[in-house]
Amino acid sequence: MRVLVVEDEPKMARLLRRGLEESGFVVDATDRGEDAVWMAASSTYDAILLDVMLPGIDGFETCRRLRDAEVWSPVLMLTARGEVEDRVSGLDGGADDYLVKPFAFPELTARVRAVARRGSPERHTEIAVGDLRMDVASRRVWRGETEISLSSTEFCLLEAFMRRPGQVLSRLDLLEAGWNMDYDNKSNVIAVYVGYLRNKIDRPFGREDLETVRRVGYRLRAD
Ligand code: CA
Repeated sequence: MRVLVVEDEPKMARLLRRGLEESGFVVDATDRGEDAVWMAASSTYDAILLDVMLPGIDGFETCRRLRDAEVWSPVLMLTARGEVEDRVSGLDGGADDYLVKPFAFPELTARVRAVARRGSPERHTEIAVGDLRMDVASRRVWRGETEISLSSTEFCLLEAFMRRPGQVLSRLDLLEAGWNMDYDNKSNVIAVYVGYLRNKIDRPFGREDLETVRRVGYRLRAD
């Protein structure tokens, strides 16, 4: 099996290469995400090990660019301890699994084999509700043919709505979708952000798809 290691820390990169080679993998390595994108586009890897913190584009952006370039090799993200939100963000970006540093080698090789076994099915990261379309991997949104630019919080909220079209989402559902646990849920931040979203996905198009359900929450019309 052929593996691409993307890691900028020389010691960790050497360790990964040696350990994987000893386990029978063929290993290519680079310390930059930009290089990983062209390497993976011009060669076929059974798995890509991708460090999160890299010089230049980071691991998440690298993963998105890989998927944009239609590279569907399984991606295993390597994150530092405690980067919980990073893990979620990595998986949203089209990664298949993550491993927290420091890790034991048997676990690493087992995970690499597991993601490699799943193969490289083409991902369907696109969600559509009516003429709203979202590509979760590249984090892009369109109404019809018009691309809409959203902040990352707006994107998270819209994704929550688009994954459950026609259903009412409570303020708590939306807080969980867009904010970390420290956020004070008594504030009117949801109303403010729903307003921002309407100004981007509805008003410019003469639509009112994002509805308020009084005293309950909000709903994205499914039709
Ligand atoms: Ca690093």
